[in-house]
Amino acid sequence: MILHIDMDAFFASVEQRDNPDLQNKPIIVAGNSSRSVVSTASYEARKFGIHSAMPVFQAKQRCPQVIIVPGSRHKYLAASKKIMNIISGFSPLVEQVSIDEAYVDIKGCEKLFGPPEKMAKEIKETIFKEVFLTCSIGIAPVKFLAKIASDMDKPSGITLICRDKMNHFIESLPIAKVPGVGKQAMKLMEILQVQTLGDIHQYDPGLLNKKFGKMGTRLYELSHGRDQSKVECNYIRKSISSETTLTQDISNFETASQILLALSQRVGRDLRKERKLCRNISIKIKFSDFTQITRSRKIESWSCSSTVIFNEALSLYTKVAVKKKIRLLGVGVSGFQDKNTPIQMDLLCPPREKTKKQWESVDKAVDSIMEKFGSDMVIKASLTPSKETRKKKR
Ligand SMILES: [Mg+2]
Repeated sequence: MILHIDMDAFFASVEQRDNPDLQNKPIIVAGNSSRSVVSTASYEARKFGIHSAMPVFQAKQRCPQVIIVPGSRHKYLAASKKIMNIISGFSPLVEQVSIDEAYVDIKGCEKLFGPPEKMAKEIKETIFKEVFLTCSIGIAPVKFLAKIASDMDKPSGITLICRDKMNHFIESLPIAKVPGVGKQAMKLMEILQVQTLGDIHQYDPGLLNKKFGKMGTRLYELSHGRDQSKVECNYIRKSISSETTLTQDISNFETASQILLALSQRVGRDLRKERKLCRNISIKIKFSDFTQITRSRKIESWSCSSTVIFNEALSLYTKVAVKKKIRLLGVGVSGFQDKNTPIQMDLLCPPREKTKKQWESVDKAVDSIMEKFGSDMVIKASLTPSKETRKKKR
């Protein structure tokens, strides 16, 4: 199955998210000259018939109180980066097609995330929790249907077209909805009395090719539910992180270190799942007054060990000398290298290499238990702070 994830009114939603004065109001992101066109309209503005590519003066005619917001590309890019990174945490096969849109091949992911709908729901919730933006997701056995499906229940919907309903869906799908069928092609469709994609069946592929060129052949294939285009993975994950907003603000070192340990284990597990080693480790702390800091450090050698990540995270945390109460903690890793790439060993510290090897086998064992019995089990058991941590505290 393939997912198509599309952010809802992306630019406008980012602006509304960042400015409470714009929330629940008709806004458009556009330049403010008489010749500008609408880049994105909020859903409130769409109710007035305003849409992308409409001249701004026309939008103002339709809705005089519309608020025009100049775009801020760096903000959209930052949000997009976070979103794509979240998506790539669910499947390594991600094809980003624009700033706010991606296809995801979820082959082999069911073991980890359950059936496609459940996975889509989790992606949607994670994006909302971390970026405060909504998206719509289409799920289908082929790419073009996934794209059509994501548009069917906007905003914030999930639409599934399963294999056995695919033919029925194609029979009733208006031909104008098929990507690539524009105004010019629609004129011909009318002459041929083609109203739905299913109506294409009755025509000979040779004739379709003559009338529509390459697109005719493609339409014939699509009308039979065949779409050869694959998800072309073009997104490479550059960081892995995990963070948690605490149910209660904390100030106690012991509790913070327990949370850092759980987060480090999760990050380490993701890292090992992707067969990667990291070189940079970072922490993020948000305080009860909503101020936020991040600290990061380059480690001595490449690693994918949860223990290494935890030790660094804890040492970064200790250096911060936290005085305020904490509402959120996060651990992240970056600077990746494939695990198979040969890495030069540091000959001067063989004993450390040995402990590293030992920790790696612990990680391996923990990972396989988690895989079998779920992640809660092992995290709880190992969340008792180690003697070493207690000593460090003193
Ligand atoms: Mg969009």
